Amino acid sequence: MPEKVVIVGSGPAGWTAAIYAARAALKPLVFEGAATEENRLQGTLPLGQLALTTEVENYPGFPAGDLSSYLRGSLAEDKAYLADMHEKAGVSGPELMELMRQQAVNFGTRVMTDDIVDVDFDQHPFRLTSLGGEVTEALSVIVATGARANYLGIESEERYKNNGVSACAVCDGALPRFRGKPLVVVGGGDSAVEEADYLSKFASTVYMIHRRDALRASKIMAQRATDNEKIEIVWNSTIDEVLGNETDGVTGVRLESTTGEGKRQLDATGFFLAIGHTPNTDFLEGKLEMNEKKYLNWTVPFRTNTSVEGVFAAGDVADDYYRQAVTAAGTGCMAALDAERWLGTKGL
Ligand code: NAP
Repeated sequence: MPEKVVIVGSGPAGWTAAIYAARAALKPLVFEGAATEENRLQGTLPLGQLALTTEVENYPGFPAGDLSSYLRGSLAEDKAYLADMHEKAGVSGPELMELMRQQAVNFGTRVMTDDIVDVDFDQHPFRLTSLGGEVTEALSVIVATGARANYLGIESEERYKNNGVSACAVCDGALPRFRGKPLVVVGGGDSAVEEADYLSKFASTVYMIHRRDALRASKIMAQRATDNEKIEIVWNSTIDEVLGNETDGVTGVRLESTTGEGKRQLDATGFFLAIGHTPNTDFLEGKLEMNEKKYLNWTVPFRTNTSVEGVFAAGDVADDYYRQAVTAAGTGCMAALDAERWLGTKGL
């Protein structure tokens, strides 16, 4: 028997889709991703980007306070260790994802800890092949595989991830370690300006490190950077090394001039990447319509339809603009409702 709904991906979009699909008695099957070294290295382990962050202060419903008892009572016993005291932040990224996963499972969602590596949307039921080589037939599919932040890929950057290195200012910018301190943002596009502008609310100075002598950012965003007294653009520079130690995490950066002016050091307690995102759509190449940056196209306004009837997309995999946990969850809900209604109209 083919599955009614298969959901690929396990961030807020995937779990919200699962909660809605399960409550609609569609018995969803979620492929949450494989726990492989390759996925760890590229930031695509199960539970997605939120599982790579620390405090989540902007997800509605989790105000600051001691929520430990609630969290302990809601998580499976083997995950209870995650429920630390929460006097400042409402919930952490990993906890939020475990809670969403648990909620989906409580309503009967089944979970496979595997990647989908190939799809055949030319026939119906659709056929999905996992990394483990198993083929699953599905009447409808919700793609919620998200996007991964691009990192420079240098060793010292990896060492201080979650200890001063971040690719999400909105997620991490308000942490105490960044307040009143100099911070570094790498990149020269709209995202870099947006991140630097956001961080300037907390930081003493934000150094925007750009490898060229002109910003890629739009004029209006570039103006925002130059108008902001707390933002200092450091031109023609690349990152030679992220400096730090085990106790303090990031303490600065060593820069290398691209115009032959040698190396120099800057003090900073935070190192933020804003050099673009890559959607996790490699396995969909040639199968679903994408934009030039490989994000999936929604083909009907205000719906989660893709270019293949019966295949829906939710979350960051189809959104290079908002990229927030709550918007991903919102579109996950939409995709489940769209799938349910589509199955209904087809009598499936
Ligand atoms: P982007 O426009 O592709 O810019 C990426 C920036 O990172 C570029 O300045 C690039 O340098 C730099 N970069 C890339 N790889 C690098 C590396 N390995 N080392 C150092 N620097 C590197 O990406 P984005 O800023 O994330 O924007 C993505 C899209 O979202 C754009 O279409 C943007 O307009 C849109 N967006 C809009 C807003 C807004 O309007 N408010 C906000 C955010 C994003 P080079 O310039 O030298 O290539």
